[in-house]
Amino acid sequence: MKLYNLKDHTETVEFSKAVKLGLGSQQGLFFPKDLPSIKKEKLSELLNMNFISRSSEILSKFIKNEIKKTELEKKVKKAFSFSGPKIIKVTENIACLELFHGPTLAFKDFGARFMAQMLSYLNNKNEIVTILTATSGDTGAAVAHAFYKMKNVRVVILYPKGKISALQEKLFCTLGENITTIAINGSFDECQTLVKQAFNDEELKKITGLNSANSINISRLLAQICYYFEAFALIPKQKKIELIISVPCGNFGNLTAGLLAKSLGLPIKSFIAATNANDTVPRFLKSGNWEPKNTISTISNAMDISRPNNWPRVEELFKRKKWDLTELGFGSVSDDQTVNTLHELSNLGYDSEPHAAIAYKLLKEKIKPNQFGLFLGTAHPAKFKETIEKILKKEILLPKVLKERCKLPLLSHNMRPNFLKLRKFLLEK
Ligand SMILES: *Cc1c(COP(=O)(O)O)cnc(C)c1O
Repeated sequence: MKLYNLKDHTETVEFSKAVKLGLGSQQGLFFPKDLPSIKKEKLSELLNMNFISRSSEILSKFIKNEIKKTELEKKVKKAFSFSGPKIIKVTENIACLELFHGPTLAFKDFGARFMAQMLSYLNNKNEIVTILTATSGDTGAAVAHAFYKMKNVRVVILYPKGKISALQEKLFCTLGENITTIAINGSFDECQTLVKQAFNDEELKKITGLNSANSINISRLLAQICYYFEAFALIPKQKKIELIISVPCGNFGNLTAGLLAKSLGLPIKSFIAATNANDTVPRFLKSGNWEPKNTISTISNAMDISRPNNWPRVEELFKRKKWDLTELGFGSVSDDQTVNTLHELSNLGYDSEPHAAIAYKLLKEKIKPNQFGLFLGTAHPAKFKETIEKILKKEILLPKVLKERCKLPLLSHNMRPNFLKLRKFLLEK
């Protein structure tokens, strides 16, 4: 698959290069040159397959010239080796697509684990790779688990000490082996600055084989297309006629993947881009002006992003497909409304969490009587145990994986936010 840089269309690379590079020149995102499609007759055959075979089939549409299908299927099987998406009915015409049954209880497991498989497969010279990433919680956990015990890959994760939840810390700072975690005495921004400094240091980059494995990597997006097909396969036939999907958005990777599924030929009627108070995209869709404000902290903190970096991909896809951007549903939901919605869902017998609740609220507002709606459950409620228990005034039980992890000791190093210290650490260890 050839991809071009959205900031410079003359820069084109193969999939393998795009996976290794992450971003192109001028921090430009890579976008597929050819958009494959699935014929109508082929679609029902595809939908009848199991999750692994179907996902391999879909991914091979994009990357078959670089990775043989039999090889790809092996990698997909390894990447998606956990309990797949589930659909839980909430009202007569609305259900949640739960994507949080993976090892770190968030949908990010799908993308991170497939990227890990691709990076290790494409690293055919068995060079040492250092994945360096800063996290405010979820991404670090998904990346750490995805690369855990992988040969020739070392993962170093920086996070702001005392600023992520105790549960989140236990989830990825107890692994050991090839996973190193560093608690930085500072803010998340300071962690990110350290990572940027490392990537600007050519010598360090070369010696340690630095790679960022961040969420703009094209391999993550492709992996996420697969669960939209699974969702469509799982819902009853009569509900497939007019399907609306509401996506809780932060960096807009999840929505991009859904739109790519539609562009492949999956008959999804429309999407809703749901945000919290960080509403750059909803305001843009209303007024046509791109005016990011300062990021606001909310209870749906994985969506606290005011400059969503996948948005250019959404625009490009609408342009390429000649779709009308006015057909994209959108809205933003305040913390107060999120709290009310969590109560509403709980009264319906479904204990949820803030991110999914935002998607549900906008779906309920916009859905028409003849339609069926799915909202995406992006994280397990237990990941936000303290917040939700305070709101719903009831206990949220931890799943077994998390309970076991909580018993293990933290293995993190401590460090001041000082680049020379980090540099020395990376070169010595
Ligand atoms: C990352 C994340 C999101 C946002 O997903 P994007 O692909 O960045 O839009 C939503 N909910 C949860 C729980 C997340 O971790």
